Amino acid sequence: MKIIMLGAPGAGKGTQAKMIASKYQVPHISTGDIFRANIKNGTELGKKAKEYMDQGLLVPDELTVDLVIDRLSQDDCSRGYILDGFPRTIPQAQALDGALAKRGEKMDYAINVDVPDENIVTRMSGRRACTGCGATYHIVHNPSKKGDICEVCGETLILREDDKPETVHKRLSVYHEQTQPLIDYYTEQGILKTVDGTQDMNDVFAAVTKILEA
Ligand code: AMP
Repeated sequence: MKIIMLGAPGAGKGTQAKMIASKYQVPHISTGDIFRANIKNGTELGKKAKEYMDQGLLVPDELTVDLVIDRLSQDDCSRGYILDGFPRTIPQAQALDGALAKRGEKMDYAINVDVPDENIVTRMSGRRACTGCGATYHIVHNPSKKGDICEVCGETLILREDDKPETVHKRLSVYHEQTQPLIDYYTEQGILKTVDGTQDMNDVFAAVTKILEA
């Protein structure tokens, strides 16, 4: 089961990706999480990525593609994986297809979690992320049972720099310019499925599992 999660920033694709990964026991690969872990650990990659992320821009493909392709060759990916936040550009999608084709493989589904722009900014301002493990919450839709403390690891929850309204507007315009063309790309491949991301997250998940088990 090889799945790509598509959708605007804040559409809930990360939440769905984690739920799918847990139900079907395949790794959840989030490029955003990989970059944030690198930033936290002060790596060279982290330093470079942060410059772009804090401005709401995409990290250049040269820093992103090999990282993901290497990750996909690890043993835990043999039964499939959920890609969350990758690909985000047509060249990334082409590089992914090229790497898979060399192994005689292809993606099975690209699931588009569809949420109109109007809903995104409000949603993002309520999002809280853990400074320790990166888990995400929402103050209204998915609050931590421990207030501003992470349920998973006990660290503090914050509003991420790139979730602040001014950065979200930039991320949305970057999404429309660079990532939305992937919807046509995967429609042409016949693997695009769209779910209504404005529903409660459990209803979105029910729609996703219906697709995967059809
Ligand atoms: P996310 O957590 O997926 O919303 O990603 C947070 C930020 O990481 C994005 O706004 C980008 O700056 C960067 N990023 C994540 N994935 C990619 C990617 N596939 N290509 C380029 N930049 C990315």
